[in-house]
Amino acid sequence: MTLQGKVALVTGGSRGIGRAIAEVLTAAGAKVAICHADDDAETVPVALSVRADVSSEADVISLFDRIEAELGTPEIVVNNAGILHEAPLAETTLADFDRVIAVNLRGGFLVAREAARRMESGRILNIASDLGLLGRENMAAYSASKGGIIALTRSMARELAPKILVNAIAPGPIDTDMTSPGAMSPEALAKDLDTPLARFGRPEEVAALATFLAGPQAGFITGQCYGVNGGSVMT
Ligand code: NAD
Repeated sequence: MTLQGKVALVTGGSRGIGRAIAEVLTAAGAKVAICHADDDAETVPVALSVRADVSSEADVISLFDRIEAELGTPEIVVNNAGILHEAPLAETTLADFDRVIAVNLRGGFLVAREAARRMESGRILNIASDLGLLGRENMAAYSASKGGIIALTRSMARELAPKILVNAIAPGPIDTDMTSPGAMSPEALAKDLDTPLARFGRPEEVAALATFLAGPQAGFITGQCYGVNGGSVMT
């Protein structure tokens, strides 16, 4: 129980990677709050579950107010909520681009800013993507949002040290609702499986690293971005 009694927030914690992170943090003893954007969110066994849109400044402030009132000030904040957008550049509308940036990048900024305003000490962990470094055809907006999160991570790590340590995880293809490998075209599947391990990862495999980075053994690590991606080399 390495995180006994610590208050944690996991955005996008109702499904997929966020849910797996919420579950391992809970198992490590943390009091976990999640937020999500689902109309009919599954019940997740955490201390607090709130519907809140991370792209909304008002929602993010109310979310932190509620967590502070019900659980205490968070010491671990995981910026995980995100959406995917896939379309050729020429067919990507301004509204598409703005929405992906609003959720994935502005959302990460709003949550981290609120954390920085309230936390005395602790950890911020940003779930980026290997596409934020590698890029991919038909995913310019999504890749740009994730590249932005990695830059945000490095800047915040410098500014918030030594009180708050800030790191990013850049997953490769993980089997969740976002990717739905069962519904993919053979071409798309082949692209995702083109790694040394040639398989999709499981949300738990990302969550394992998240718990380590949130815990006491990661006290000398900040400003880093780690791949959990089946072996793609990110440069
Ligand atoms: P998912 O679609 O299974 O779950 C997304 C979660 O985010 C849900 O809880 C949803 O309610 C929440 N969410 C969406 N929009 C939101 C908003 N505006 N405000 C608050 N919550 C919102 O996705 P996932 O695959 O678990 O992905 C989680 C994170 O990991 C995302 O940031 C995603 O970009 C990143 N990621 C995923 C993969 C992958 O292969 N699955 C790879 C790299 C990075």
